[in-house]
Amino acid sequence: MSDFRAVLISKEGEKGQKAEPTTLTDADLMEGDVTVRVTHSTLNYKDGLALTGKAPIVRRWPLIPGIDFSGEVEASDNPDFKPGDRVILNGWGVGESHHGGYSQKARVKGEWLIHCPDALSNAEAMAIGTAGYTAALCVLGLTDHGVSPASGAVVVTGAVGGVGSTAVALLSKLGFNVIASTGRASEAGYLKSLGASEIIDRNELSEPGRPLGKERWAAGVDSVGSHTLANVLAQTKYGGYVAACGLAQGMDLPASVAPFILRGVSLLGIDSVNAPKEKRIRAYELLTSQLDKDALATITSTIKLDDVIAAGADIVAGKVRGRIVVEVA
Ligand code: NDP
Repeated sequence: MSDFRAVLISKEGEKGQKAEPTTLTDADLMEGDVTVRVTHSTLNYKDGLALTGKAPIVRRWPLIPGIDFSGEVEASDNPDFKPGDRVILNGWGVGESHHGGYSQKARVKGEWLIHCPDALSNAEAMAIGTAGYTAALCVLGLTDHGVSPASGAVVVTGAVGGVGSTAVALLSKLGFNVIASTGRASEAGYLKSLGASEIIDRNELSEPGRPLGKERWAAGVDSVGSHTLANVLAQTKYGGYVAACGLAQGMDLPASVAPFILRGVSLLGIDSVNAPKEKRIRAYELLTSQLDKDALATITSTIKLDDVIAAGADIVAGKVRGRIVVEVA
């Protein structure tokens, strides 16, 4: 039985919790038919919430957090995977109710895994991570409904964040005119380098607004929720689509039905956790074909496994730019 390193969140007292690096053995792994030698994970907003305990993400104790990982199959009882296969896992409750990616080893259900595309290294797969894969699901949501560059501009909220950065890069590569909404004016150059054609201050969208406003964009990718999503909807052109995936400002949606019933605007819900396998594969196909590897490198920084605890507090405090890859191996 071999030892491996992991970050473990345990209960402390009645309501508290602590996250700390630790050494575990195979006996600590959870149920599953595929054992993976994890090489990389990543830091998502949800991981920050789990690591800090700011929201009840962890539903089984003690738990290894990390909602996604890439790695190599070590052992498999699943006919779809054999030792040596490179794999990716995003979601499925991993890092919430099943041990996650901040660990050198993971045992999971094979049905949760997809093969890592040949065009991506394990590190690149996690530079994309759940944030990037969710951005791709948002873009597919729009394009599957017929939204094209000819429809008009697309607004991306939370643009400097992980979902937002990837959405800006993907949409601009697909030829869209991208309006990036951010609270960080100092990152305007960064957003332009990803392909944004216009930058707007997120304060324009984050305060309570009117049920309908001037029609400014044909579509939106929103990772912020609350008043921001309400205002994005109120300023979407007739017949437009808004893909909503996040709640960085809040889980509420203080909107009216006016954009839906007077402008035929549609709100598309995007969930990455339980998305079916074929959607995941399409999202990674879009990412491998459209995401510029230089752009990916631009939005990515790398940290070690033990650094993830401090970085978790940073992402919740809104101090993180783009994507953070966690080197686990
Ligand atoms: P990040 O923390 O990297 O990005 C969130 C961005 O939102 C920030 O960078 C900031 O952008 C903006 N923001 C933060 N706080 C506020 C606020 N109070 N008001 C307005 N804007 C704010 O997170 P991710 O990109 O990883 O995730 C974004 C959201 O999407 C999260 O809520 C996450 O939980 C959700 N998500 C949902 C998934 C799903 O399956 N539906 C999957 C993955 C993520 P800026 O600095 O540019 O203003």
